[in-house]
Amino acid sequence: DRVNNPYDGAKVYVNPEWSAKAAAEPGGSRIANQPTGVWLDRTAAINGVNGGMGLRDHLDEALRQKGSGELVIQLVVYNLPGRDCAALASNGEFGPTEIDKYKTQYIDPIKAILADPKYADLRIVTTVEIDSLPNLVTNVTPRATATPNCDVMKANGNYVKGVGYALNKLGDVPNVYNYVDAGHHGWLGWDDNFGASADMFKQAATAEGATVADVHGFIANTANYSALKEDHFSIGQSVAGKSVRESKWVDWNRYTDELSYAQALRNQLVSIGFDSGIGMLIDTSRNGWGGANRPTGPGATTSVDTYVDGGRYDRRIHLGNWCNQSGAGLGERPQASPEPGIDAYVWMKPPGESDGASKVIPNDEGKGFDRMCDPTYTGNPRNNNNMSGALPDAPISGHWFSAQFQELMKNAYPPL
Ligand code: BGC
Repeated sequence: DRVNNPYDGAKVYVNPEWSAKAAAEPGGSRIANQPTGVWLDRTAAINGVNGGMGLRDHLDEALRQKGSGELVIQLVVYNLPGRDCAALASNGEFGPTEIDKYKTQYIDPIKAILADPKYADLRIVTTVEIDSLPNLVTNVTPRATATPNCDVMKANGNYVKGVGYALNKLGDVPNVYNYVDAGHHGWLGWDDNFGASADMFKQAATAEGATVADVHGFIANTANYSALKEDHFSIGQSVAGKSVRESKWVDWNRYTDELSYAQALRNQLVSIGFDSGIGMLIDTSRNGWGGANRPTGPGATTSVDTYVDGGRYDRRIHLGNWCNQSGAGLGERPQASPEPGIDAYVWMKPPGESDGASKVIPNDEGKGFDRMCDPTYTGNPRNNNNMSGALPDAPISGHWFSAQFQELMKNAYPPL
């Protein structure tokens, strides 16, 4: 039987492959024993890519790390047909129509392994399909932010079907805890996205045989950079005659940070029929925004913009920037039950793994080149035509990016 919060009273699995890369970096041993997500980002990851660990290897190692206590292992289910429809950096192996391959070559084999009785005493957290469903709300016609690929995935229904199928099948395994991706406040925190996204999550959670009982919770901010708590300004304040919501940075959003967003979204989801016991995860792997430039107090009250910009921890050029952000740091260390409604702070994105290449790099993973990862790019409607803020010289997504790892440690908050 599932416990209410799988993270309570449990250790969390340390991925030996990530840990070794972190430990090999100067200063990396300070964080190399932290738990991070295991990304099943292609069918080959199930058996292990290039001689690396496959799913069974991770589960066997998880049993070893578990010993006689409780242990959570965190898996990222990430291989939908037409993956990453609003960007190119994490396009995957399945074309938009290949839903049957997703089911039979990806989800079914994962389910078969997770259902092995050998692994019945592990608490298996599955975070389901990052960056998919929100795209069907925000990046489709008639929005100015629409992309042709997201229109296709909305029309053919294969994101909804894929997520429903994954939740249904994985949810049949009694020790699997499904958490659905819920974007982040800088994506879904606006009035026209918030309720509509919750409704989209419900639609997927009731597709292909899934029910809301297959959903244990949701995860916010996966692989993103949105600050956990902005202490120096809040949504209800007014400065120089203007609401904080009118500042350029907040731009009418209802939320200023991930904690307030995740808690509010939880309430919204319960109000539309998800279980009242659902819990939220927040990915704090890269949202620390510490270092020398971290503001120590509110900005000047000259205008609402000086106030917000002078006080905000999140120092991105624009909230819509997402690739290898310059100035970012490690956030809160993984921990259970940090706040009401939050099951855990987690490092689902392994720090040091790139979000995408800063120039074209041919590869056999289906990964494209997204100019949001190019530091010279001047933007598109999804970041309101701002500079990308990306670090230079990045490898393709998922590959080790030493310079970023060093920057994340340097700007960690809490500091290392
Ligand atoms: C990549 C995956 C990778 C993951 C974790 C994603 O952006 O597309 O290949 O496993 O990040 O680093």
